[in-house]
Amino acid sequence: MSDTLQIQLNDTSLESIVEKVANQQRLTKEDGMLLFETQDLWTVCSLADSVRKRMHGDIAYYNINRHINYSNVCALSCKFCDFHRKKNQEGAYQHSLDDIEKEAHTALESGATEIHIVGGLHPWLPFEYYTDMLQTIRAIAPDIHLKAFTAVEIVHFAKISKRGRDGKAGISSVLEDLIASGLGSLPGGGAEVFDERVHDEVFKGKIGGEKWLDVHRCAHELGINSNATMLYGHVESRADRIKHMMVLREEQDRAEQSSTDGRFQTMIPLPFIPGVSELAHLPGPSGVENLRTIAVSRLMLDNVPHIKAFWIMQTIQMAQHMLQCGANDIDGTVVWYDITKVTTETTHQECTTEDLKRAIRDAGCTPVERDTLYRRVHRKGTAWSIETRPITSNI
Ligand code: SF4
Repeated sequence: MSDTLQIQLNDTSLESIVEKVANQQRLTKEDGMLLFETQDLWTVCSLADSVRKRMHGDIAYYNINRHINYSNVCALSCKFCDFHRKKNQEGAYQHSLDDIEKEAHTALESGATEIHIVGGLHPWLPFEYYTDMLQTIRAIAPDIHLKAFTAVEIVHFAKISKRGRDGKAGISSVLEDLIASGLGSLPGGGAEVFDERVHDEVFKGKIGGEKWLDVHRCAHELGINSNATMLYGHVESRADRIKHMMVLREEQDRAEQSSTDGRFQTMIPLPFIPGVSELAHLPGPSGVENLRTIAVSRLMLDNVPHIKAFWIMQTIQMAQHMLQCGANDIDGTVVWYDITKVTTETTHQECTTEDLKRAIRDAGCTPVERDTLYRRVHRKGTAWSIETRPITSNI
């Protein structure tokens, strides 16, 4: 039994990690590997839970949001992707600005505080489609936070608007235009796993880790926050996952040491879902592996405030377990989500606020509605206001 954390160890090789966690010391790459390899999953999850409690007490977050996946037409064909279609392929779609306008009205009427927008790398839509999209929503719903476009899409926009896809100046210039049109923050998608072998094997053609980090660095320098993801459970190794987490941790350190205002807010480990992708022959990660990956993320990423169990991909039941293994957020009402489908055949994937709150309470936490920037939302039906101060986390 550890003196400090009262955890019953089944694997004594974890003793030094328990001491480090108790003393809030940073874990090493080797510690991360041990957390992935040990059979003592109970200790790994208990340690992550202790860190989550120290940082956030008994609070777990949800939000009222809507996702818009504006088009599934994509110039690339990443092997793990079950979402993309070629232009004339069955199932290909592209939302018009009228469709977007309707979605903005629905979001407004439903009391959403956030619209999350991502799509494929459409070969023919001009850059103005994206700025018009943001401006259209902004005109209808000026208070709703627009979290939009993965780093991959931002690099694509730099290319189609002829600002060059390689230089940081082009990326910054695209981001400045998007921010002027209403962009509030960047989602964390498209990071996959920061490893060249994995990149070449399953998402060749898509930007690699360096470029993904460049985009987020530019966003942070322009003063907006972003999230980070890691797609795991396909052809990557556990060592690749640890390397990915270490790179994110270093980047967050760098942002904190610089004078930039933007930061990574949330890490979202995303389990690979085979679907009908080119990697459909792979089984995807098991439930236990999902729990462990959330827990290790919480323990390794000591400078990222929030760990999200994205219920759409983890299921609401697994997200509840994850709230006891390091996660402190389960995402929101979502409504329509086209990228993956786990428990339904359709893209209507909605959780009511009552379902979200009950799931959080049943997991032993207190549900708090947040906005995109983790500020408390005060709500009366569909009317809401935001406490201007962020709810602090102890990191
Ligand atoms: S993962 Fe993104 S970039 Fe890759 S094929 Fe799918 S939509 Fe296109």
